Amino acid sequence: MSTQARKPDSSSQAQDAIVPNTLFQALVEHSSDVIALLNAEGLVTYVSPSITPIMGYSPEEFVGSHALVIVHPDDLPKMQELFGRIVQMPGVCLSAEYRLRCKDGSWRWFDGAGTNLLDDPQVQAIVGNFRDIAERKRTESLLDEQNTVFKMIAQDADLRDVLSYLTRLVERYSSEGVLASILLLDADKKHLRHGAAPSLPSAYNQAIDGIEIGPAVGSCGIAAYTGKPVIVSDIAHDPLWKDFRDLALEHGLRACWSTPILSAEQEVLGTFALYYREPHQPGSSDQHLVEFITRSAAIAIERERQEEERRALVSDLKHQKRQLELLSAATREINRVLEIPTIMRNLISVACALLNAEVGTYGLLIDGKMVFNEYIQNGEVRSISIVFEKGVGVPGWVMHIEQPYIANDAAHDPHVLPELQQTYGFYNLINLPVFNRAGDLVACFELQNKADSQPFTEDDLDLLQALASSAAIAFENAQMIEEQRALEQRKDEFISMASHELKTPVTSIKGFTQVLLRRLSQRDDPESVRFLQRMDAQLNKLTTLISELLDLSRIQTGKLAYRHEQFDLDKVVAEIVENVQATTTQHQIVIHGKTGVQIIGDRDRIGQVLINLLSNAIKYSPDHDKVHVYLQKEGNEAMVSVQDFGIGIDEAHQQKIFERFYQVTGPVEKTFPGLGIGLYLSNEIIRQHKGRLWVNSRKGEGATFSFALPVE
Ligand code: ADP
Repeated sequence: MSTQARKPDSSSQAQDAIVPNTLFQALVEHSSDVIALLNAEGLVTYVSPSITPIMGYSPEEFVGSHALVIVHPDDLPKMQELFGRIVQMPGVCLSAEYRLRCKDGSWRWFDGAGTNLLDDPQVQAIVGNFRDIAERKRTESLLDEQNTVFKMIAQDADLRDVLSYLTRLVERYSSEGVLASILLLDADKKHLRHGAAPSLPSAYNQAIDGIEIGPAVGSCGIAAYTGKPVIVSDIAHDPLWKDFRDLALEHGLRACWSTPILSAEQEVLGTFALYYREPHQPGSSDQHLVEFITRSAAIAIERERQEEERRALVSDLKHQKRQLELLSAATREINRVLEIPTIMRNLISVACALLNAEVGTYGLLIDGKMVFNEYIQNGEVRSISIVFEKGVGVPGWVMHIEQPYIANDAAHDPHVLPELQQTYGFYNLINLPVFNRAGDLVACFELQNKADSQPFTEDDLDLLQALASSAAIAFENAQMIEEQRALEQRKDEFISMASHELKTPVTSIKGFTQVLLRRLSQRDDPESVRFLQRMDAQLNKLTTLISELLDLSRIQTGKLAYRHEQFDLDKVVAEIVENVQATTTQHQIVIHGKTGVQIIGDRDRIGQVLINLLSNAIKYSPDHDKVHVYLQKEGNEAMVSVQDFGIGIDEAHQQKIFERFYQVTGPVEKTFPGLGIGLYLSNEIIRQHKGRLWVNSRKGEGATFSFALPVE
C-alpha cells in the first residue's frame, strides 16, 4: 500500500492502550468486521487482522496510513466531512456506506462506523469498525436491475431488447468472462432461433440459428429437448457436443451451461446459456442469477406471444369484418339490381375482391348449355363467346356434378380444357354453380388466378357459397320481374288491340244511329226517337271509354301527341262546363272567379282533364246537386279546382287514385262504374304541361281536385 500519510510515533503503545485484557483482544482479533483505531488526524494506529482476508492488506501494512487514503474518490468528500464531525464531538458515533480500495485494486462496499473515544483515558482513539457489504450491495443493485427488467416487460418493450438486456446483465454480475446467450424455440417446437447473445461471435450465432433440438445437439439443443439444465464443463471432451465441438472451439468457447426457459405450464420456450472461454463449473452465486434470468425471459417471451396472438386475432377479426362488409354490400347490391348480367358482374367483382383473384367470368344456362359472354379482368369487362356442353370443360363438369370445383393446378387438371388454359393463361380456378330457389341450376361463376399463386381453399369456397346463394335470390327476383314485365306488356298490347278493334264498329254504329235518328225524326214516331237518343248517349259513353283506352296505350308507348298552341283557359273552362252541364239535370255547376291567362299547350287535352274531373265530381256525389269550379291565378300559375260534396276519398287512397287502373274498393265505391283510367290520364296530361294535379278530400265530405298550369 502506498500512502503519503505520516506514521505515528509508536504503534505498539497505542496497541497496548486499547488491549487491556486478553478477552477483549481475542474478541477484536476474531471479529469478522475490520476494527481500526485512528488518532485525531485520521492516522491508523491499530487494525485487526481480519483486514487481510477481506481486503488483502496485512495489519502492519495499514497501520500508520491515513484512514481516508483508500476511500473511493466519489465517496471521499462525504467521508471527510463525516470524519471532521466525529473528531469534533467526543463520544459521538456516526456511520456511512462507502467504497474502499482492496489490495488487488478492486473497490468494495463497506458499512463503517466511527466512535470518538479520544477523551476516554482508556482508549484515546477514534474506534473505527467496518463491515464488508459487497454481497448486500450486489443483491441490492441486482434488485434494481430486476425492477428495470420488469418495467421493460410491463411497458411492452421489444422482446429482443429485453433479452439482450438480460444477457448483458448476467455478463455484468456473473463470474468474469462469461458470455450469455438466449435462444428461442420456434413455433414448430423443433428448432432453436437466435434470441440475444450480444457478446458471442456473430458467426457462431448465425451457425446456431435454426438448429434442430435433440438428445445430443450441444447444451442448448439438449436443454430444449429434455427441458432440463445441461452443464458441459469442457466442450472439447464432452460427447454431448460432438457435432458442434469444432464450431465452438473455433470461436474459443470451452464450457457451456444451458438452462431451459420454461413457461408457467412448464413448456419449453427457449434456452438460456452461459459460455466460458475456459473449462468451467458453474458457481453457486450464478445459480440465483440464472433462475432470475430464465424466469424473466419466460415472462417476456410469453407476454410477446400473447401480444402476437392478440394482434393476429385483431387482424383476423378485421379481415373477417371486411369480408362481412363486402358480402353484405354485395348482397344489398345484388338484390337491388334486377338484370341478370349486372347481378353476375357485381357478384364477380365482389368475389374477386374477397378472394384476391385476378379474373372472374360467368356462364348462364341457356338451352341446357353454359354460355359465357363476359370475362372480367381486374375490373375490366371483355366480351367473349364460349359455350360448354354438359360434361365438357370445368363448367361442363360443374353442370354435371352440380357441385363447386377447384383446379389449383390448371395446367394438369383433367377437367380443364388445355386450349382454353393456354389461350387465357390461368394457373388455377374455382367454379361454383348458381341455383335458383327451386334448386335448378341457372348459372355458374368462375374465378381464376388467385394472387401470389395461392391455391383456392375450402374457406374460399364457403365464402363464395354465401355469395352464390344471395345471387340465387336475386336471380329469382329478376326472373319474377321479367315475367311480370312480359305479362304487363301482353296486357298493354291487348288493351291497345282491343280498343282499336272496338273503335271501328262503334264509330259506324254511331254513324248509323245518327242516320236513323234523322230519318225517324221526320216520321211521327217519338218513342223510337227517344230510344235512339238513349242509344246515342250510351254510344257517346262507349266512345269516351274507347278513346281513353286508346290514349292509355299511347301513353304506354310514348305516342300520345300534344298540340302546342296558345289558348284562353277561362274560355275553355266555360265551354267544357257548358257541355257537361248539358249532360246532367241533377247537378248545377257554378264557376267562381277567373284566371285571365293564356296557356300554351293542348287545349283539347286540358279540356279532357276538366271533363274528367267534372264527370267524377258528378258521379261521386249522387246525393248532392252542386259542383263548384274555382279559377284563379296565383303567382305564375293558373289554378283550376273542381269541388264536389260527395263520398270523398280516404287519405290512404289519395295518392294511389292517380295510378293506372286504381279504384277505391269500399262497399260504397263499388257501386260506381269505371275503369280507373281517367285520373291517370289526367295526371299524365297535366305533367306533360309541366303542371301539377292533386286532391284535397276527407271521406264522406266531398273532394276538391285541382290542377295548376305554369303561365309564361
Ligand atoms: P274511374 O273511372 O274509376 O272514375 P278515375 O281514374 O277517374 O277512374 O278515378 C279513380 C278513382 O278515384 C275512382 O275509382 C274513385 O274511387 C276515386 N275518385 C275519383 N274522383 C272522385 C271524387 N270526386 N270523389 C270520390 N272519389 C273519387
